[in-house]
Amino acid sequence: MSLGQDLAALGLAVAANEQYEKDESGCGVYPPSAAVQARNVSEVQAVLRYSREQKVPVIPWGRGSGKSGAALAERGGIVLSLEKMDRILEVSRADMVCVTEPGVILESLQKAVEAEGLFYPPDPNSQAICSIGGNLAHNAGGPRALKYGVTRDYVLGVEAVLPTGELIKAGHRSWKGVAGYDLTQLLVGSEGTLAVIVKATLKVIPLPRSVATMLAFFPDEDAAALGVQKIFGAGLLPRTCELMDGPTMRYVSPSAPFKFPEHIGGALIVEHDGNEPDAVMQDLARSGEMCTEAGAIDVVAAQDEAQRRKIWETRRMTSIALYNVRPFKISEDIAVPRGHLVTMIQKVREIGARYGLPTACYGHAGDGNLHVNLLFGTAEERSKSGAAVDDVLQAAIDLGGTITGEHGVGLAKRKFLAKEQSPQLIELQRRVKRAFDPENLLNPGKILPG
Ligand SMILES: Cc1cc2nc3c(=O)[nH]c(=O)nc-3n(C[C@H](O)[C@H](O)[C@H](O)COP(=O)(O)OP(=O)(O)OC[C@H]3O[C@@H](n4cnc5c(N)ncnc54)[C@H](O)[C@@H]3O)c2cc1C
Repeated sequence: MSLGQDLAALGLAVAANEQYEKDESGCGVYPPSAAVQARNVSEVQAVLRYSREQKVPVIPWGRGSGKSGAALAERGGIVLSLEKMDRILEVSRADMVCVTEPGVILESLQKAVEAEGLFYPPDPNSQAICSIGGNLAHNAGGPRALKYGVTRDYVLGVEAVLPTGELIKAGHRSWKGVAGYDLTQLLVGSEGTLAVIVKATLKVIPLPRSVATMLAFFPDEDAAALGVQKIFGAGLLPRTCELMDGPTMRYVSPSAPFKFPEHIGGALIVEHDGNEPDAVMQDLARSGEMCTEAGAIDVVAAQDEAQRRKIWETRRMTSIALYNVRPFKISEDIAVPRGHLVTMIQKVREIGARYGLPTACYGHAGDGNLHVNLLFGTAEERSKSGAAVDDVLQAAIDLGGTITGEHGVGLAKRKFLAKEQSPQLIELQRRVKRAFDPENLLNPGKILPG
């Protein structure tokens, strides 16, 4: 009997392997040996018990939008998809929480919560295609992380299935709670290597009543990065502050709903929110002045919701638009302390010049998280990319930053972890992994090098 037939005989919903052979990372195509779409917690437990008995790896799968290859079945095994566990179980105004299954699409959760006048701020730009389970497993960020924090800041409790098949409940429904080691937060960001999350209790906050958005255009990306410094220097805290450099805008413009003026070399999308429209507009105007001080050529505020949507749609399609015109790009996801943003952008340019390589930078500049794209012309050039990638990551580390601000380590960054972390720290994480998964069957080979 094949693995799929074996799993079907247990009453599990077996799916086509091809659906789960690649994600959005560009790390490669890895067909699993079998794929199961779990419909409830018991089925997740059944798959993990089977994995333990038969010594077959299991790889949790949310919606496959990950950019580090963390959901790929690199070593074969069973992809365990949580997409069918997609019920929002509760939105409670009294407790200011929502309770959800892992397969819920983030955007659906945001809409359900907002219908109650509440707000779940984490907003990775993939919100229409990613799952809550994947968000927790990667501790996803997004533009609004600048003011509101990342996924981790909203996770109060989880239910999760261990590699043994046991179900654990960690955390609480109350907004506060400090009993014992914080295993809830250990599971957040663990990339499906310690346990499979089957339920999450998430904090929600009041929905801000007023939001205002502007675009500032600069002659180059250095001036745009200086604009970020000036805004914070003036004591302002926008909810988003996104940067796009000239090449990014030129690649995106043809297919985007918002067309950037041709002569500009850098742009910031700045958004403020709050409950009083006048105060929000004052903050926006002040951010605009700071951009002008930094050298902005023009500052324009979105006039209505339709204009706001166009700007954000354009921003959200950046990654895919760049990929469509430069299929051999490598996209790094570094973060540096905000004070070093200008230096990091200059370093990327120097690295591009050193290797004769066009680059494009965009991202969540307000919190120092930049998506640095190395635009290789051919697959062969890309395969020889080692030194250029190394230099970008090293530059971020040297400035006190990290090799990944939000996309996770997965497969893509595994070999670089030792650049950022000491052997002792990596060994300690290996011990944590062994405590959860002594037989290394749950998403093996991810995060930790060799
Ligand atoms: C266009 C685009 C824009 C993006 N923008 C952002 C952004 O702004 N910010 C950001 O942070 N990311 C962004 N991403 C990356 C990606 O969308 C996020 O990492 C997202 O959280 C992945 O969710 P997913 O459901 O697709 O997970 P998958 O890709 O399916 O899986 C990701 C990881 O989560 C694990 N996993 C999934 N579900 C569970 C579960 N229930 N229990 C345990 N482990 C699980 C998998 O094993 C894997 O390790 C973007 C991606 C794209 C394609």
